[in-house]
Parts: sequence; C-alpha cells; structure tokens
Amino acid sequence: SKEKRALYIIFGATGDLASRKLYPALYRLYSKGYLKEHFAVIGTARREWSDEYYQNIVKEAVDSISDSEADAEAFSSHFRYQSHNVNDSEHYHTLKNLADSLDTKYDIQGNRIFYLSMSPNFFGTITKHLRDQKLVTENGFNRVIIEKPFGTDFESSQHLNNEINDSFDENQLYRIDHYLGKEMVQTILALRFSNRLIKESWNSDSLSSIQVTLSEDLGVEERGGYYDKSGALRDMVQNHILQIVSLLTMDEPDSYTTENVRKEKLAVLKSLKRPNVAEDFVRGQYSFSDNGNLKAYRDEEKVSADSMTETYVAGKVTVDTDKWRDVPIYIRTGKRMKEKTSRVDVLWKKTDQQIFDEGDSILTIHISPDEGIELQLNDKKIGPGMEIQPVSLEAMRSKEMLKARPEAYEKLLLDVLNGDETHFAHWGEVAASWKYVDFIREAWNKDLENIPFYTACSMGPKEADDLLAKDNQKWLYNP
Ligand code: NAD
Repeated sequence: SKEKRALYIIFGATGDLASRKLYPALYRLYSKGYLKEHFAVIGTARREWSDEYYQNIVKEAVDSISDSEADAEAFSSHFRYQSHNVNDSEHYHTLKNLADSLDTKYDIQGNRIFYLSMSPNFFGTITKHLRDQKLVTENGFNRVIIEKPFGTDFESSQHLNNEINDSFDENQLYRIDHYLGKEMVQTILALRFSNRLIKESWNSDSLSSIQVTLSEDLGVEERGGYYDKSGALRDMVQNHILQIVSLLTMDEPDSYTTENVRKEKLAVLKSLKRPNVAEDFVRGQYSFSDNGNLKAYRDEEKVSADSMTETYVAGKVTVDTDKWRDVPIYIRTGKRMKEKTSRVDVLWKKTDQQIFDEGDSILTIHISPDEGIELQLNDKKIGPGMEIQPVSLEAMRSKEMLKARPEAYEKLLLDVLNGDETHFAHWGEVAASWKYVDFIREAWNKDLENIPFYTACSMGPKEADDLLAKDNQKWLYNP
C-alpha cells in the first residue's frame, strides 16, 4: 500500500504558511491515501490554543478542498496542539511525551517529520533541543523541513547550517524552495533531456539567450518589515531564480538520481561568473502608479522613508564554462510589476544562411499562473511565394488539468515522506548561490545613493531594457 507512517511536529502552526499551504497539502496527501490511519500532527506555537480550537482551524483551512465534512473531521482528529516557547527546555519535554503517546496511539513506528515554519533565528535552538530532549527517535526516520530564508548572506547561512548540523545530518534536511515543487519547473529537465530536438541544440552554437522572468503584481503588502531588510536579490534571486538557472544549464546527469542531479546543479552554481555589477545588474524600486492609486514602496507600511531596498532586479548571468560562456542568461524579478507571471523564454539564433526572411524561434516555459509550453517557429504563409510567418505550437495545461495537478507543497511534502531529496536545495547549492548574490550586494552597498525607480505596474526601470539593448537583445516577454 502507498500509505506512509509519520508524526509531524509543526513549529509555527498558528502562522500564515501553515494554514494557507501546509494543512491543505497534508489534506491532499490524506485524501489520496498517502496518509491514512498512521499519522498525527502536533502543531506548536506560542499562543494558547486548545486541541479543539486547533482542529477547527485545520478544518477551516481545508474546507474548500475537502471531499466531505466528515472527511475533514476525520483528518483533523489526527491533530493536536501544544503551546510552546521554543527557548524553553521544559516545553520540549512536554512535546516529547505527547509525541510518544501519539506514536503509540497511531502506531507510527518512530517516523518523525519536524517542520520549522518560523523565523530562521530559531532553527538552531529548535534542532538542538529536538536532539537533546530526545524527540529524535531511534527506530524510525527523522527528517527536518526548513523554510526560507536560509540566512541573509553566505556567512549567516553557514552559521545557521552549522547550528543545524550539530543535531541533524545533511541527508535529514529538506530545505524548501517551493519553485522546485512546481510542475513546470520540474518539466525543465524533462524537456531538455528527453527530446533530442531540444537537447542537441541546447548550447551556445544554437541559443541566443535564455530569459527568466519572475514578476509579481503585488507590492510588499504587510510584509514590509521583513522585505525592507531583504530585497528582491535575497528574496528571489538567491533561491528561486538561481535554482531555475541551474536546471536550465546543468549538464545531463549520468542518471536521474538525487545525487547525480545535485552534482550537476552544483557544478553550474559554482561556475557562475562574478559579474561586472555596474554593467550587468540593474536594481530598481517601485514608485507610485501613474494614476496615483498605488503607493510608492517608500510609503508602504514598515518601510523606511529613505529605503534603498531594491524591489526589482534584472541581470545578466554568465555560466563560465566553454558550453555556456557565450549564452547570456537574463533574469528579472520584482514587485509591483505589470503582471504576475513566472516564465522562461529561450531564444534560438537565426540560421547561418537565412535564405528566408526568418523570425524568431522561441521556446517558452510557462511556470505560473499559466502552465505549459509554447514553441514559436517559422512557417510558410499560405499562398504564392515563400513568405515566412510565425506559428505557435502550444501545449498548455487546461483548467481541468491545473485543478487536478498537485500543488508544489503537496508534491514536496510527499517527497519528504518518501525520503526523496531531489527537489530540495542542497547546502552546497545554497552556499554557492549566496556567494554569488553577496558579490552583487557588496557592490550595491558601495553606492547607497542611486537606485532607479520604476512606475508601479510597469515591467521595471528603463535601465533593464538598456541592459539587453547593449547586447542587441530585448526582453521577449513584454506585456
Ligand atoms: P508567521 O509570522 O505567520 O508565523 C510564525 C509562527 O511562529 C507563528 O505560529 C508564531 O506563533 C510562531 N513563533 C514565533 N516566535 C515563537 C516562539 N518564540 N516560540 C514559539 N513559536 C513562535 O509566519 P509564516 O508566514 O507562517 O512563515 C513561517 C516561515 O515560513 C517563515 O520563516 C517565513 O519566512 C517562511 N515562509 C513563509 C511564506 C508564506 O507564504 N507565508 C513563504 C515562504 C517562506
């Protein structure tokens, strides 16, 4: 049977992420039979909640997706709440007793998944206590899921990692990068390595540029306090964008195993060329919208009035290997852009001879909100002569398919249950990405006067267009 046994302990169970993502994801695993009788969840956080209150929160969180009221009821009956201060040793003792008794009650056989869904400041304390107060079992698996942000630069991430490693080994750690759980991000390797057509021309002889766009239409909303210290480079480039870049440019692994995939991704991340920041990277910050309806970033709540934090980054990334050196990889991400979209556009060079008046050949991988692939090719226009016209071959996932397909958190939580680490960020990858991003940050820190502004609801500052124009390129996605 596909049923798995696991006791979850969620730190930060009253939080936004837990209700919005984790409980629904666990419910889907339950309704699909991966979790059945032999599982339990202990939610912990500072608030004093009763089990009953907590179970109601869980029921509410799965209300819109549950098969029936009875099902939601049965599911939430596996949940317990324990109020908990992560700094207090005594509390771990209580937690251990509860965990042991639920383990017996549901015959879970010692399998534990610790989900750290709270500020990384606490990760070290929590993992140490889990080990010292013997919440880690001897007889089953013990896995730790860690949310972002994993540090704020290389040094702090290394410190964090060392702290966690005092209690857990790398192969017990699952660092969430939810982009890696997205169907269309996982599709990248399938497209690249199972189509000779694509595989054979995925190189600097054939490709003109690769463009990665992760744009958001929202501003910072109520997260100004966190965001003002972070900025787009740390919040989006260090993790999601560089992970996508590594999937787009990694060598074909010897076989599709976690170890081989990680090895090839790491090789790419280690060979990222240190950019000429002034030439190759552009930051920006949103100002108010043309109609004045949307606030400037500096006017947002909990954002300092003279903030130099970038809400936008565009850059030219170079993978410094013979294979990739000559293919510019343009990336951009930002808040308050014109549209919310995540996509990859790959542009081929024109043919050497060009006996026809050919247009662009472009592969687009739509990651979200649309999901699917689109290939733009040159076709012959019907009629006399040899007039060329673009044609688009689309394989977009239908509404029904999107409704049925597992959400990123569901996929990732299932991977954790199965002990599959392929779609999680390995320490080596995290370290290499931080070093790259730190290099850019340091250059920007030397100039705390000048940051280009862009109008809210635009695709970023003019400088981001100039960046590509210098190379005789342009952004392929231009809503
Ligand atoms: P949140 O602020 O809504 O919740 C934080 C939780 O931590 C609460 O349950 C709170 O009670 C608990 N907590 C704080 N201090 C505590 C203490 N001393 N002892 C015990 N419990 C304590 O945060 P969130 O949005 O749910 O995010 C959780 C984590 O996931 C954060 O690290 C965040 O960066 C990360 N994350 C969140 C999202 C998201 O969409 N919300 C996305 C990506 C990553």
